[in-house]
Amino acid sequence: MSDFFTSSISETDPLISDAIDAEVRRQVDGLELIASENFVSEAVLQTMGTVFTNKYAEGYPGKRYYGGCQFADVAEQAAIDRAKELFGAEHANVQPHSGAQANMAVFLAAIKHGDTILGMNLSHGGHLTHGHPLNFSGINFKVADYGVNKDTEQIDYDELQRKAEESRPALLICGASAYPRIIDFERIGEIARSVGAKVMADIAHIAGLVAAGLHPSPVPHCEFVTTTTHKTLRGPRGGLALCKEEFAKDLDRAVFPGVQGGPLVHIIAAKAVAFGEALRPEFKDYQQQILKNAKALGKTLAAEGLRIVSGGTDNHLLLVDVYMDGKGITGKEAEKALDEVHITVNKNTIPFDTQKPFVASGIRLGTPALTTRGMKEDDMRAIGRMIASVVHEPESEDVKARVRREVLELTERFPMYQGRLKPQAGGANIAA
Ligand SMILES: *Cc1c(COP(=O)(O)O)cnc(C)c1O
Repeated sequence: MSDFFTSSISETDPLISDAIDAEVRRQVDGLELIASENFVSEAVLQTMGTVFTNKYAEGYPGKRYYGGCQFADVAEQAAIDRAKELFGAEHANVQPHSGAQANMAVFLAAIKHGDTILGMNLSHGGHLTHGHPLNFSGINFKVADYGVNKDTEQIDYDELQRKAEESRPALLICGASAYPRIIDFERIGEIARSVGAKVMADIAHIAGLVAAGLHPSPVPHCEFVTTTTHKTLRGPRGGLALCKEEFAKDLDRAVFPGVQGGPLVHIIAAKAVAFGEALRPEFKDYQQQILKNAKALGKTLAAEGLRIVSGGTDNHLLLVDVYMDGKGITGKEAEKALDEVHITVNKNTIPFDTQKPFVASGIRLGTPALTTRGMKEDDMRAIGRMIASVVHEPESEDVKARVRREVLELTERFPMYQGRLKPQAGGANIAA
């Protein structure tokens, strides 16, 4: 057999091989608090790295444009069946390469070029694909927006009703990237019907909570539901689109050939594996712990003098105002200082922010990844104190050195991906 089929990456490409090893170390040695990230199981990782990557399978199970799809069909049909069961949906399309492409497909299936969409303002927690001027959604459609109430920092449903009556959208979009509260999908469905709009609920962030029954489901109230598969759902990087049976053909045609060519069969197989994991009872325990952890983290941060946007959280994420009208530091500064101690977060605008998006007054924290590692409320309280001490004294090298040590002590108690960790020369650790 030629070397081509036997050589490992460490032999053929040291540059990329070393980058992968360093990334494993970075993930293992740091505290991952980015709300949109998670750690997949070894089973999901393995499935992504299989020969399904070699297969073209344009079309859908049983109706392909290529031969040799019998095993691709097994994988895709399992992913479809499990997705429908997980969300109680009438129809599922598991082919979108990403959350953004799932949304693009819904736009193509549900409305016409130039129609009006009504989406949540990006600076209030919405997503680029909900009408940002540089995104296909903002380029191809007329955009109206709604947001949160200035006092409660929660979605103002009365205002949403007014905005819907005013703008008469063809599609009302709900769901968010940085919104810590329950979203009332039933109410949003009623608002949409009152103005003759369809609804797309984009549950990219909260899909795991919805699947576990810990956040109300949009599925009964919305024509279309889209999600990523890699956030709280803890699957491979990708997208998923669900809809009512009456739109099934339109949606499938919109995904392929509408916005995509061949599906990523290796990723679809990994989606099937992840959905299988999500159907097990342990997944609900996991999602419950995400919620407990987010509440514990938020309480500690508030006790340490930081302002929690909307006063708390109902889901997996927290929006923390670290600027506090000039009393603190910007989100950009906080992100950088925390990066130096191997706590990974992202800066984020807060509603009615006075700072530009690239600077921002807030940081967004999420507990899905650390909960996967096995951390619980006590660990969250310790992390909350670490974050607060760095944010209060971002210039102090003493504080940063201490927190760096604490991060290392904590991460060592929660090992992961052991089989993927290369021993390090001299036992050195990137966090040292
Ligand atoms: C993350 C996210 C997306 C986009 O997902 P990608 O896979 O990055 O394209 C879409 N909508 C919302 C609300 C998100 O949070």
